[in-house]
Amino acid sequence: MFGKISDDVWKFTGCSDKSNVYFIDSAKKIIIDTGNRTDREHLKNFLGRAIDFEKIDVVVFTHLHYDHCGNFDLFPNAEMYASSDEITAFKNNPDDTVLDAVVAEKFSSVYLKPLPAEFLGLKVVETPGHTSGSVCLWYEKDKILFTGDTLFGNKMQGRVDLPTSMPDEMKNSIMRLIEIPYKVIAPGHDY
Ligand SMILES: [Zn+2]
Repeated sequence: MFGKISDDVWKFTGCSDKSNVYFIDSAKKIIIDTGNRTDREHLKNFLGRAIDFEKIDVVVFTHLHYDHCGNFDLFPNAEMYASSDEITAFKNNPDDTVLDAVVAEKFSSVYLKPLPAEFLGLKVVETPGHTSGSVCLWYEKDKILFTGDTLFGNKMQGRVDLPTSMPDEMKNSIMRLIEIPYKVIAPGHDY
């Protein structure tokens, strides 16, 4: 699936594990998560209709699993951001943070910047649980909540049995999200 979910937000859904990539066309051109590397050609074809990859200013990762950071290198001129906790996890143990040794190796070339609390119209909501440094992003202008793998559209929560998961934190993280007056959930996968 590829299309608009609001005036300035586009959504691409990959084939293999229905990983989502979002594009926000605002003052800055922002990508949220970059999908699974197995979807690379589809991503180029479909998202390429809406964007010029070289003109993306910023990539924000909800977390650094391989199916979210897999195509980071399609955006050669973008600054790349993740939460400081996720960056620390990657430095401490790249393979456990990415869950794919090949992608982790490629990703080690990235200069990651820590996400500030508010950023280009996005409010960063810290939601540890699925991973230690998972974040959700609240785009208040369009009332869209980008939830990564923390919360899915059917109100299902993400897995908490992975190497950097923090199962005890998940409930508080979900509570934090439920308080947000979102109209649309934009999850990391369309399961
Ligand atoms: Zn994940």
